[in-house]
Amino acid sequence: MVAEVINGKELSAEMKKQMRYEVENLLTQQIIPHLTVVLVGNNPASMSYVNGKKRASEEVGIQSEIIELPDSISENELLKIIHQLNQNKAVHGILVQLPLPKQINVQHIIESIDPKKDVDGFHPINIGRMMTGQDTFLPCTPYGIIKMLQSKNITIEGKHVVILGRSNIVGKPVGQLLLNENATVTYCHSKTKNLQEITKQADILVVAIGRPNVINKEYIKNGAVVIDVGINRLENGILTGDVDFDSAKEVASYITPVPRGVGPMTITMLLHNTIKAAKEIEK
Ligand code: NDP
Repeated sequence: MVAEVINGKELSAEMKKQMRYEVENLLTQQIIPHLTVVLVGNNPASMSYVNGKKRASEEVGIQSEIIELPDSISENELLKIIHQLNQNKAVHGILVQLPLPKQINVQHIIESIDPKKDVDGFHPINIGRMMTGQDTFLPCTPYGIIKMLQSKNITIEGKHVVILGRSNIVGKPVGQLLLNENATVTYCHSKTKNLQEITKQADILVVAIGRPNVINKEYIKNGAVVIDVGINRLENGILTGDVDFDSAKEVASYITPVPRGVGPMTITMLLHNTIKAAKEIEK
């Protein structure tokens, strides 16, 4: 079997086309969706993600700005800026790019964002709504994964999904969203024993561990769907996933590549959430 590739870049382009119409329609009602991204420090990966988010916003007509702050900023100063953005009626979406410098408690910052403007879907109120199956801002990477599966009409209900990784931003929420879609979900992490035995049972395997190319065909059941969330930069500068693509595609039925896989979908779902925030705030 040679797996069919789920191309996140193509799907993202299609979805952005639709979003452009939505934004044009909002403009006729004098609503301009506005996303503010807060960048603390000058981590090159963060700068590149933030610029990508700004470019993508502009492509669909969302107004976006980046507030750049020094690495030395205190937690209180950052909280003050977020408070001002919460109060600012022209701002619909607020995203604080992670990671943050160590003097700042990430959870305090996430919880300071108005849940109505929390387009990353990280606020505990929005996480609670997601867990209880209510309408909310779904976290962008997990939401993008669901859209990728749906784009290929891959049945989720009744499937055994194995998630490698249990972070708050990827592993845990992707498992929850798939559970909401009636999958049977198993989580694995660095303390999991007999990993290969478990991953081999997966109908859908989601890999989000941040270890380059470690998951090969030995971990994958014939015909499984493989979603590779990992983004790893090798010493030679090449970007690669957590899955050994060439090996895995010999046994999988569908597979996402890196790059042009989950990454572009993450940004696209951020745009979706920003448009949703603008509609709800201006209602
Ligand atoms: P974290 O480092 O926060 O979490 C990694 C998780 O993987 C942890 O739960 C850890 O277990 C588990 N883990 C690590 N090594 C192993 C192993 N050998 N076997 C089993 N489990 C393991 O990472 P993130 O969730 O933030 O990100 C994961 C990857 O996804 C990274 O490469 C990141 O760059 C990428 N990413 C991609 C995005 C995209 O848009 N495509 C968005 C966000 C992240 P434990 O909890 O026990 O430590």
